[in-house]
Amino acid sequence: MKVEISTNRWIKLPAHEAVHKAAALGFKHIQIGTPHFSGDLDKIVELRKKHKLTYSVHAPFFAEKDFIATASYKDPVDLEHSRQIFFKSIENAKYVGAKKIVIHASEPHYHEGVPQLVESMDLFAKKAAELDIIVCMENKFQPSEVGYAEHELWGVLKEVSHPNIKMCFDTAHAAAATGSLTEMLHFLKDMTPFIADVHLVPVDTFKRTDVHEAPKPNEYYYENVVKILKDAKYKGDLTFEAAYDTDENVLKGMKYIEGLIKKYKC
Ligand SMILES: [Zn+2]
Ligand SMILES: [Zn+2]
Repeated sequence: MKVEISTNRWIKLPAHEAVHKAAALGFKHIQIGTPHFSGDLDKIVELRKKHKLTYSVHAPFFAEKDFIATASYKDPVDLEHSRQIFFKSIENAKYVGAKKIVIHASEPHYHEGVPQLVESMDLFAKKAAELDIIVCMENKFQPSEVGYAEHELWGVLKEVSHPNIKMCFDTAHAAAATGSLTEMLHFLKDMTPFIADVHLVPVDTFKRTDVHEAPKPNEYYYENVVKILKDAKYKGDLTFEAAYDTDENVLKGMKYIEGLIKKYKC
């Protein structure tokens, strides 16, 4: 496993400037976060080669101002518009040399449905297979209407059942959805056959929301996540989405999680 950082820490910058900041902070594995509204794809490629970086991408890449793209809209016009944005995102991910792209199952406060989500993933699977990219569908939490419950995510992934469609497990979203760290750990364990990316994010289980900070030492939360993933032979990224933390805390968090990876030899 390896620690990856999301550029959502520098989300107001164009994507290439954000990648530059992440590399300067010492990260080699970078998830180009969302919503960047602009950026220079060629410069992102240059930075990858220059600093020997690995990339993944969080869709939409690029995001469109004043439009929330979601793969599960019930409104057919918004659904089609969103799909076009995600197709372009998959192409852009390929262009910069990313191996995987994260796409949310849903967004809070939008009228969404499971059949629309399944059909979107079927369509993305074809494009992803053509371009040799893995699409990781990320779990969300309420008030999203769909895409947060274990049985539902399992159902969607089983129905789509395509080697290029996997899951991004966001620990905070899962804990917010279930209201419990223990339930989150069960959920994680059950989903491991599908997991190809992990967002390792603190949670406020009382407010039932994610806290966009770096992980801080917590044996029950982070050590158990790492142990479960090790048992499942997960070899992917543990991605920080520490948008609202300091450089100092992010580096401390990196050291802490790298320490766990070493401790558990995974
Ligand atoms: Zn996300
Ligand atoms: Zn996430």
